[in-house]
Amino acid sequence: MGYGAAVRAPASYRDLCRRLAEITDLVSAARVLVWDQRTVMPPAGASARAEALATLTRLAHSLLVSSDTGRLLDALAPWAESLPADSDAASLVRMTRRDYEKERQVPAELRAEMARAAALAIPVWEEARRRSDWALFQPHLATALELRRRYVECRQPAGEAYDVLLDDYEPGMTAAEARAVLAALKAGLLPLVGEVAARGDVVDDSFLRGPFPIDAQRRVELALLQALGFDERVFRLDESEHPFACRAGPDDIRLTTRRQEDRLTSLFACMHELGHGLYEYGVDRALARTPLGRGASYGLHESQSRLWENLVGRSRPFWQRFFPLLREAFPQALAGVDAERFYRGINAVRPSLIRVHADEATYGLHIILRFELEQDLLEGRLAVDEVPEAWSAKMKEYLGLEVPDAAHGPLQDVHWAGGQIGYFPTYALGTIMAAQIWERLRVDLPDLDEAIAAGELRPLREWLREKVHRHGRKYLPGELLRRVTGSGVDPVPLLRYLRHKLGEIYDLPS
Ligand code: ZN
Repeated sequence: MGYGAAVRAPASYRDLCRRLAEITDLVSAARVLVWDQRTVMPPAGASARAEALATLTRLAHSLLVSSDTGRLLDALAPWAESLPADSDAASLVRMTRRDYEKERQVPAELRAEMARAAALAIPVWEEARRRSDWALFQPHLATALELRRRYVECRQPAGEAYDVLLDDYEPGMTAAEARAVLAALKAGLLPLVGEVAARGDVVDDSFLRGPFPIDAQRRVELALLQALGFDERVFRLDESEHPFACRAGPDDIRLTTRRQEDRLTSLFACMHELGHGLYEYGVDRALARTPLGRGASYGLHESQSRLWENLVGRSRPFWQRFFPLLREAFPQALAGVDAERFYRGINAVRPSLIRVHADEATYGLHIILRFELEQDLLEGRLAVDEVPEAWSAKMKEYLGLEVPDAAHGPLQDVHWAGGQIGYFPTYALGTIMAAQIWERLRVDLPDLDEAIAAGELRPLREWLREKVHRHGRKYLPGELLRRVTGSGVDPVPLLRYLRHKLGEIYDLPS
């Protein structure tokens, strides 16, 4: 924490900081082990790695929930309340208290059981997905739900069960709030997707099937990432089965991607993960080695990744500047394609079965489907063996598609296998927040399009760092969003952005 605060702080505050620094170090070490497992570890290393991770997690958990932490927090309460609420120290005491109260209600054995169940379910899910066999995975989903019900019970919620699960990903938001936001999003997306479909196949994206040689992809990705703010002294880019970003330390940010010769999805995945990485890199150094030294929530994190992937990476000014790089890298696939055709092609709306391949307009509907099913499962309105049928019905209703098998349906994502129930809404919330933040920053940066078209991304990066990144986890996400945009989570800017962009590409009546 800042030196100024430290010299005037009581000794118990320094004790708390020392304890939190140790916890953060354990968490950082665990992150490096996870990164290593997902990038370079030989498969046979998995069982030893699971033990090492379990030990680090248990140590961090017991340091946080110990009675010493509680005593320090009690002793510090009057002092922290005398400080400005937005000071680093007051925020640290407030957020640590929040984490402590939540975590100490959860017995260590239940935490361990949740971790163990996920470790056992993931290989079964992989096998089930390969064979498209829902029945094989089903008992593991039943176990994950049962453990979440027990988890909810320990937390003694005032409201509904889903509130407890959502709070782990989007602190402070209730299920009712998420439902209202996603219902408004759905009411806007369904007619928009319908109007676009009615226009027929007017956008040519046939050139997006490659070939895109892997070596050329790697070169062009690095060149683009560097233009966006990837600094090789701080960032790395490696390959993994599923792209992700990992903060091993404030100046050690690791991104991964997955390349395929017949699609350019890796390019967009790189920009997405860079958005996560820039957020972590932009957190104020004074918050390092504290629980505030990371992004505010999964939703806000996703707002940053989606902003770089879509609002920048699928924009016309961006490709006006960078398309020549791409043309040079892929002369065969992009022969005869210009920046404008490319821009239209990468923004084509094509309802598809797989979430991670979804375009900007249909993406939200994939999330809404999962959010609705999760609530039904948790409340017992839907049994696990009814999931494939319920999934198919919603896919038909929202996107007009038949689901051929469970691999293209409820087995496509890893989240439920990992017990991450309550996570999905943050993808849609983040996409919504990205558009809200984008509208706000365009007021402050009126020449943004010209800057992007000139390859000048620094003003955008600095705006985001100043308004969003540097605060880390000092505020609950709803409060931070309000500070940045003046409003709560609101899908209107996203719907406005999509209607404007797709209206032009598909020549829709405005
Ligand atoms: Zn993401």
